[in-house]
Amino acid sequence: MNQAEESFRDHIGTIAEDGKRKWIFAKQVSGKLYQWRSYVSYVYLLIFFILPWIKVNGRPLFLMNLIERKFILFGQVFWPQDFFVFVIAMLTFIVFIVLFTVVFGRIFCGWICPQTIFMEMVFRKIEYLIEGNADQQRRLNSQGWSKEKILKKTAKVSAFFILSFVIANYFLAYILGMDNVLLYMREGIAAHLGTFVPLVIFTLIFFFVYLWFREQVCLIVCPYGRLQGVMLDADSIVVAYDYKRGEERGKFNRHETRTKGDCVDCNECVKVCPTGIDIRNGTQLECINCTACIDACNNIMDKFDLKQGLIRYASENTIAKGEKLKFSLRTKAYTAVLAILAGVLITLLVTRKDIQTTVMRAQGMLYQKQENGKISNLYNVKMINKTTHAIPVEIVVEEPKGAEVRMIGKHLNVPKESIGDGMFFVVADPALFTHRKNKIELALYVNGKKVDEVKTTFMSPNN
Ligand code: SF4
Ligand code: SF4
Repeated sequence: MNQAEESFRDHIGTIAEDGKRKWIFAKQVSGKLYQWRSYVSYVYLLIFFILPWIKVNGRPLFLMNLIERKFILFGQVFWPQDFFVFVIAMLTFIVFIVLFTVVFGRIFCGWICPQTIFMEMVFRKIEYLIEGNADQQRRLNSQGWSKEKILKKTAKVSAFFILSFVIANYFLAYILGMDNVLLYMREGIAAHLGTFVPLVIFTLIFFFVYLWFREQVCLIVCPYGRLQGVMLDADSIVVAYDYKRGEERGKFNRHETRTKGDCVDCNECVKVCPTGIDIRNGTQLECINCTACIDACNNIMDKFDLKQGLIRYASENTIAKGEKLKFSLRTKAYTAVLAILAGVLITLLVTRKDIQTTVMRAQGMLYQKQENGKISNLYNVKMINKTTHAIPVEIVVEEPKGAEVRMIGKHLNVPKESIGDGMFFVVADPALFTHRKNKIELALYVNGKKVDEVKTTFMSPNN
């Protein structure tokens, strides 16, 4: 391309020359891919609105409680102490996303990203319903305030606000749990002002994004979108215009023998684009791979009895050289890293215990002599109970045999999903030890079943 043809890269499609926002009135598309995206969005929305209601063993299936740093994935609780598992899970997820993007481009953005699903499949459909198609919306926006305009705008703004409020409630349910959200609703705003304020903020953010900010989220805010330049290569599958087949573009004239390419320059692919770009200029950062232009162009191809797929999922190398999808060296390297991370993650998850115990000898204390000639050491015990039931714990000295545990105060009983602590003495005959600092092994029993083992030290008078 020459410099003039490359000029589209100098500005964002949604910003006018005077720096003002160019509002996109995306034409509603019809076609096979749009239909499939609609089906995917129904399943997606169903899952989004049902998940917070599902419980496993009395706890939510998913919870991202950032405030208490408690996370539940598939009913498994992850505490701050499981942070390394969480970090590995996040790393695995990021590498997976990178690998997926290297091979399949931005399929995620077009098909599964919550922003695209809610914007294109929920809010924009409501907009079409209330304000009509893209042309009718354009007309409505440019006309003065009439009864029709006031009614339509009020209906749209109200619908958008109510929906934003509902989404914000569900968003909170993913953070605090649906039980808590329902409780706050029952007990009212005054009793839970600390929760009501974030709820209002989330509602206003969603409302602002879907009513006004829209595609700017993908263009300006989304870090994933910003990273496309480094993740995509000539073998990545993207929504692409087959310029070899399409150029030289030109209007179709049924009465003359067509000598030009298959692009009839109808501009339909531009009219349906929610980010306001012309895919015929090549892969651009603004393209969220929503496939609207594929459907639009296929409809035009059908009209002119031309083969579908002038715009399609393809890599640059497929179009330029006719190459098939390649498993490049970069893809192989990412796959290897992903396999290693996945292996580590699975091992951590499988070996992760429901009960985690820390026993520490009381700091700054040596041994104490008992009246019967035995000696004792004082210990602190801390126990994390990740299960859904209270755990009555019995601590036993496994090694050396003959030493015993004496709890200070009542026995340790750790409530469900919480941390319990206590203190105890290990009392033993000094003859059991040969050194001043000795290793001992403790075991924790719950209802007669050993659940954890801990190694610690025992100070004795022996040298
Ligand atoms: S160029 Fe096509 S796939 Fe990309 S955002 Fe626009 S309509 Fe969607
Ligand atoms: S929809 Fe297809 S034929 Fe029409 S301008 Fe776009 S690429 Fe060309």
